[in-house]
Amino acid sequence: MDRQPKTITLAHGGGGEESQQLIQQLFYRAFANELLLQAEDAAVLALNGEMAMTTDSFTVTPLQFNGGDIGELAVTGTVNDLAMMGAKPRYLSCAFMIEEGLAWSELETIVESMATMICEAGALLVCGDTKVVPKGCVDKLFITTTGIGEIMQQPYPSVKRLRSGDALIVSGDIGRHGTVILAARENMQLQTELASDCQLLWPAVEKLLSAGIECHALRDATRGGLSAVLNEWAQASQLGIEVREVDVPVSEPVQGLCELYGFDPFDLANEGTFVLSVPSAQAEQALALLQAIPHHEQAACIGRVTDEHVGKVVLTTPWGSQRYLELPKGELLPRIC
Ligand code: MG
Repeated sequence: MDRQPKTITLAHGGGGEESQQLIQQLFYRAFANELLLQAEDAAVLALNGEMAMTTDSFTVTPLQFNGGDIGELAVTGTVNDLAMMGAKPRYLSCAFMIEEGLAWSELETIVESMATMICEAGALLVCGDTKVVPKGCVDKLFITTTGIGEIMQQPYPSVKRLRSGDALIVSGDIGRHGTVILAARENMQLQTELASDCQLLWPAVEKLLSAGIECHALRDATRGGLSAVLNEWAQASQLGIEVREVDVPVSEPVQGLCELYGFDPFDLANEGTFVLSVPSAQAEQALALLQAIPHHEQAACIGRVTDEHVGKVVLTTPWGSQRYLELPKGELLPRIC
């Protein structure tokens, strides 16, 4: 077999011999499975019952950060959206948009991260595409992933199932991914080893569902953070949401960086933290289940759904005053995921 080149060239996207080299030596080797290796124009899937499908593009900079890289993010971002519908991730597709000159070794590291994450998720990558564009047309690497998952429980979690009186739980401390990317961009040395929360959420959801927790609604608090999820839920359900600020877990480094830059931890992105709405009678059980899962020890009950102040999120501050928690405005930090 040809020796690996040091960098990706336009020829690797040309559909000829170099493209074959990239596909065989990198993608097939990392993602090998029977469906992918059929190498036809499309993968043929045998699907059963109701499925969920979602797609995302990833443009994060830097490509590698503390706690993950763009490859892990591309997998978790997509399969976590499936998990939020109560769906077990099954199949993924993936498209790479590569800038000419990207180091082969860097692409290899990222592809291997993806393969590990897909394997952990219990899913298969079944088809993909690669394009290489001239220098300057993209920044190093953009990835688009699409996922299909099998809905494991009916009725599946949905904002339509939010009920007045539901307890709201957050699965961990908020704002870590946003803070890590901000610190990396500013070349800032954090005093503690703060890592992105980038992780798979299906294992936690599966545990809740199999314990009989009625997850009325689930949503991962990605771009726009906790503020966006709660506001979207209040608006879509035509119910109100009440949150106690003191109960929302925020780590010290996240709080510190937010104070320095004037950000609100509620607005910062997470990549492995979700909000769930459960009947209040099940709140304690759901919380105990979550807190027993590694990386979810900080899970906390943060508030409730109410039929007052329809469409709004009301935050009770540590001093007992109340204010509306608004949707984040503008773009705090572009290219975060
Ligand atoms: Mg989502």
